[in-house]
Formats: sequence, C-alpha cells, structure tokens
Amino acid sequence: MNVLSENKTRVPFVDLVDLHEPLVEEIAREWTSLLRGARFIGGDAVHAFETSFARYVGVEHAVAVSSGTSALQLALAATGAGPGDEVVTVAHTFFATAEAIAHCGATPVFVDVEADTANLDPDKLEAAIGPRTRAIVPVHLYGHPASMDAVLEIADRHGIAVVEDAAQAHGARIGDRSTGSFGRAAAFSFYPGKNLGACGEGGAVTTDDAELAGRVRALRDHGQTAKHVHTRVGWNARLDALQCAALSVKLPHLDAWNDARARAARVYLAGLTDTELTLPVERAGVRHVWHLFVVRHPERDRLAAELAGRDIGTGLHYPTPLHLQPAFGHPSRPEGTYPVAERWAREGLSLPMYPGLDEDLAGHVVQQVRSALERMRADRPTATGV
Ligand SMILES: *Cc1c(COP(=O)(O)O)cnc(C)c1O
Repeated sequence: MNVLSENKTRVPFVDLVDLHEPLVEEIAREWTSLLRGARFIGGDAVHAFETSFARYVGVEHAVAVSSGTSALQLALAATGAGPGDEVVTVAHTFFATAEAIAHCGATPVFVDVEADTANLDPDKLEAAIGPRTRAIVPVHLYGHPASMDAVLEIADRHGIAVVEDAAQAHGARIGDRSTGSFGRAAAFSFYPGKNLGACGEGGAVTTDDAELAGRVRALRDHGQTAKHVHTRVGWNARLDALQCAALSVKLPHLDAWNDARARAARVYLAGLTDTELTLPVERAGVRHVWHLFVVRHPERDRLAAELAGRDIGTGLHYPTPLHLQPAFGHPSRPEGTYPVAERWAREGLSLPMYPGLDEDLAGHVVQQVRSALERMRADRPTATGV
C-alpha cells in the first residue's frame, strides 16, 4: 500500500515500479550479457522472444517490431492494404489503430461499437463494407475480446482479411483460443503500461501464415528480402535485442499478472454493482484480461474530480472518438454518427488497474468510489438516488 499518512491511502491509476522490482536483477543480467557482446539488433534474444511469444499466443509466427503502431502498420501493409483501399475499424479506440491504416495509404472507415463491451458491433459491420474494403481491424479493447465469430463470418463471406488489434489483450481468450490467433494477422503492443510491456517501446505481429510473416520481416527491415535487395519500400521497425530480452524475462509472469488484474476486477464488480455506475462486462466463455476497468457515469468529469480529491488516480480511454478527432474529421460523419462510441467517450472513466492492485487496495477504491457517488447525489438539487 502507498500509505502517505495514518489513514490516507493513495492509489495511483497504474504502478509499474512494484511490478518490475522483483525482475530488475534478472533483466539486468540479460542486458549485461548483451552489452558485453554488443549484440543490439537481431540475434538470439530477438529470435528467442519471437519463438516464445508465438507459442504463448498459439500461432506459428511472431515478428517483433518497434511498437504496436508499427505492428498494425506492417500487418496491414503485408495484407496488401495501400492507397485506394478502405480499412474498416471502430470509432472508439486508441488513435494509433486508425493512424496505422492511414500510414499504409489506406482510408479508415469507422463502425460503431457494442454498448456492453465497447468492441466492434458486428451488426453494423456489413454496412461499412464496400468494393474497396481491403481489411477489417477489430480491437480487443480494454482486454475484452471482440466478437470474433461474427466478425470472421462476415469477413470470410466478403473475402476480406481480418487484422486484430490485440494491443490491450495479451492472454485474453475466446474459449481456449487466444486473441491474436483469430485473424490473418494480429498486432500486439509492448508499450510499458500494456499487460505485457517492454522497458521502452515494442510490438509484435502474430500470424499462422508463413508468407505473411516473411513479408512483415522484410517490411520491418526496409523491405529487404536478401542482403542489399529491397523488394519494396518498408520501414525501420525492428525491435532491439535489449527489449526482447526484457520481454522474455517478463512473459512467464503474464498469466499471473492477468489473474491478479482479474481478482481486482472481481472486487470492483462485487463492490460497485448496486451503484448508478454502468460496469464493464465479461461475456460467458471469454477470458477478459482487464487491461483497463472502465466504468460509465453521466457526470464522468465530476466523478474523476471527486476521486482525485480522495487520492484515487483515474484515466480517460478515450475522451474523443476517432471520427471527431481533427485528423479524421469529415463532414460525412458529424457528431451523432456513432452514438455508442460517443457515449463511451463521454461517460467512460478508467479506475486504477494493475497487477499490484491487491484486494485490499481494490476494496479501498470501491469505498472511495461509493463515497464520491454519495457526495455527488447529495449535491444534486433533486436527488433521486437509484
Ligand atoms: C497501445 C495501443 C496501440 C499502439 O501501440 P504502441 O505500442 O503504443 O504503438 C494500438 N492500438 C491500441 C488499441 C492500443 O491500446
């Protein structure tokens, strides 16, 4: 616990210090050996991590790249997405999902999300597909798997590739299959705050398709298919050996960390169920990995302020849907076009969530949220309660 004084407990939104403390020496040993050999790019450390991450996800190939954004970009480019193509994705996600589409030269086309999971709404997918649609990018947002059965059925019927954005969903499952193994390819991020994070930037593309994996390997290395042979224009998007070595140390702990997140989520769900908050769901047959625990409340900003006053950190993921971002704004999709996404953006508030959030700390957050809500009710002139 972060005890500041006798009876004041501070709960940050996320805490990476306690997570790394038990691993610092092991990572440092790996790094020392790489430093002594000056093996920074490629080599055994990269290969070893790629092999173990592919096994973890349950696919044939994992290609380590410089970030989750480049993982998306390279996976899309490897499926052939380029100028003149459209790529369908959700209006409610991190900006990079659509940014990667644009960097391939393709045009992002948005669809609305489900009210309960904030993931791509398959009922609205077909209307977004047209003759130029090259790929569909469902996002396993907050760690809850997207409705892949329905998405894949529609994609297959139209002969369109699916590239999963699994940046928030390392270890999530539908049945016994992991996210990252459903699409033609998937993109993971190892940004430090993700469920599996590097000690800096990192990402990976996973796939069962050997040819696609080969294209991604070339694209991350300037499009080189053999020394000095640049078959197409690629990127410098390799992941260095130091990051891969750190990720190999951390990967064996991922399931335990996800279990710890799930325990904290259970405390939140049990403690907040009778309040006016709309709580996140975990659908039957699915393993949610709780990258984020996002509640909804019509007075989200007020709730965040009340919690800040009680030393509880919160976050916004994400306050502006992509169709209303200046970079993607277009007269054809004004406010109101994707109402469910807009509601998530307007009302969503992320409560503290990280593996070190034990049941006592989560219980303390529950108490503080309840106290904040009580205060807000009392301040309302015509308090109706729930
Ligand atoms: C983090 C994230 C990305 C981008 O990953 P980076 O490693 O930060 O480039 C893409 N999509 C989603 C949904 C993310 O959360």
